[in-house]
Amino acid sequence: VECGYISIKEAEQAKQETIELSGLPQKTYKHPYFIDYVEVEARKILTELDIFDDPLLALNRSGLRIYTTLNPEIQQIVEDVLNNEKYYPKTIVDDKGKLQPQAAAVLAEPETGHIKALVGGRDYGTHNQDLRFLSSRQPGSSTKPVLTYAPAMEEKILFPGSVLDDAPADFGNYFPENYGLTFKGLVSVRESIVHSYNVPAVKAYSMVTPKVGMDYARKLGITTFDIKDEGILSLTLGGFTYGVRPIDMAQVFAVFSNKGVKIPLTTILKIENHLGQEIYSYNPKPEIVLSETTAYLITDVLKDVAQRGTAGRLSGVGRPIAAKTGTTSDNKDGWLVSYTPDYVLSTWIGYDLLTMGSIMNAPRYPINMSIDIMKKVHEGLSKRDFTSPGGISRVTICSKSGLRPSEHCPEEHITSDLFPRGYEPRETCNVHVSLKVCAESGLLSTEFCPEVEEKSFIQRLTPYTPTDHRWKGGTVGRVPADAALEAPAETCDIHTERSLGPAGLTLSSSPDGKQVTLSWYHPDTSNIAGYIVYRKTADGDGDGNGDENGNGDEYKRLNQQLITVNIFIDKNVKPETSYDYKVTAVNINGVESLPVLGSITTNKLEPVPPDPPSENGDDNGDENGEGENGNDNNNGNQSGRGNRNPPKNTPLTGLIGLPMFTIWTLKKYKIQNKK
Ligand SMILES: [Zn+2]
Ligand SMILES: [Zn+2]
Repeated sequence: VECGYISIKEAEQAKQETIELSGLPQKTYKHPYFIDYVEVEARKILTELDIFDDPLLALNRSGLRIYTTLNPEIQQIVEDVLNNEKYYPKTIVDDKGKLQPQAAAVLAEPETGHIKALVGGRDYGTHNQDLRFLSSRQPGSSTKPVLTYAPAMEEKILFPGSVLDDAPADFGNYFPENYGLTFKGLVSVRESIVHSYNVPAVKAYSMVTPKVGMDYARKLGITTFDIKDEGILSLTLGGFTYGVRPIDMAQVFAVFSNKGVKIPLTTILKIENHLGQEIYSYNPKPEIVLSETTAYLITDVLKDVAQRGTAGRLSGVGRPIAAKTGTTSDNKDGWLVSYTPDYVLSTWIGYDLLTMGSIMNAPRYPINMSIDIMKKVHEGLSKRDFTSPGGISRVTICSKSGLRPSEHCPEEHITSDLFPRGYEPRETCNVHVSLKVCAESGLLSTEFCPEVEEKSFIQRLTPYTPTDHRWKGGTVGRVPADAALEAPAETCDIHTERSLGPAGLTLSSSPDGKQVTLSWYHPDTSNIAGYIVYRKTADGDGDGNGDENGNGDEYKRLNQQLITVNIFIDKNVKPETSYDYKVTAVNINGVESLPVLGSITTNKLEPVPPDPPSENGDDNGDENGEGENGNDNNNGNQSGRGNRNPPKNTPLTGLIGLPMFTIWTLKKYKIQNKK
């Protein structure tokens, strides 16, 4: 173990040689922030040892030798970063001559509890010797895993794949908002931590209960609770009476790194008296605060924070690293606590006085500091990853329920996550449902909806109410982002009834049996957009006139575009064949009427003498019906899919030789949203 060593007496002599400036002694020893804290800790140890009448006097006068955990190289790395202006927003000098904003950093070895570096600010000098790693500051979201999620996992209440509803919620006169004032909807614990959503954290904290959450946080290393913090749900979002100390945050996250085992952080390894006799040595009693499983699960999630979440830039460290950011809603404090299996680093930035200003996007500065510190202190170390304790399974789950996917869960909501063995979800998803909805209105389909699709929706087990005036941020009426996926409650309001259908279908075969002319009567054409003609071969003989599958007994739609006149010529028939026809009317909402039915057997083909040569360009009769469709009625002579000619509302021509009908055209309606 690398150990720094200092004789306090030597330091004291150095002090005495200096003159006092601004009321504080000039300190000439190296790494004063660290050494100053060694004094603090030594005083505490000597007091507890109870072998000196006056521990403070003993520390200063009795020639004690104190062996420390200081790693001068690491200390220098951290000091260099915190002293570098580039890691701060615009620097100002306050009226005490201190640079602002200030920062603090604690770097320790989780497995041993040894503090390797301590920096209490920047620009250490006669005017600035504050040990800010001992100052209580508001932690923002950085304590969510401490107060809420790690306890919830340890108590088997929630796991990373468990789902919470990030939706407007009323916690008895407390209406938490997210950063950004939006609600994400049903989200996993993992995503809630990765993106630091507030509402799920409050829900989880209420599930854990504030008492249990605070008990865990105390055991993990938070020392600054006030009685007023008890029972307050907003505590999980960082609303502490006093705040937390950077050194305590290093302690807490060291437990996560050290597989749930707490080794009290120290700067002092050993104290000898002036005779060289050991009067104190650091022999920590490891305390199991969390199971290895919980430590691994919370670490696995905090690795995502450092990979793709609020501290995603930490992936630049280039080795497995876990982290949690924190910032206060008024941007007064920025935090990043990060850790690897080798080191834990707690960093904070803020103004000494809250009135001095705020720092927009405050965590970005501790993130920048931490990236560079963590990179440098790990140089030469092998890339260790956190090791699974075993007994943890990866389970495929639905991200909206946290349960096993059902056939109703869409692909994009199927994911997987880690569960302790024995706590894997057994039930299938109870959030996704499949419902038949109208393709046009998106509402539950009626019997009249022309196009019905079966779609997957979410159905919340616990409904929410949209935000109202009681939510302090943003507009009223806000709903979670996945509200659009919710199952409709109403039935289609477009396709509510059928129009009266056509009647009096008349069918006639051409003399050669090669075409059938249909005409019909329609008593009420108001709101009618057009007609659809269907045909099937009555005998089902599979002659190709049936549907695409060759089922002659199935009706096949002959016109893809609606016919807007009450006549239709089917030129795709064979002589001496029986056909069934049906004609429906479609109203302007796309609802099809009940059909009118009719049957016909086409004429027998008689030998016809060849046409005499014609030179007058007669465009009537057969010539008009072959090949290209020259008619305006979109008859079945041509594939409807390929027919891009819209129907024209003009009277029919070219019907010489056929019985004359009353022909009228419909007003042309636009049918909305039809494919
Ligand atoms: Zn599902
Ligand atoms: Zn509908």
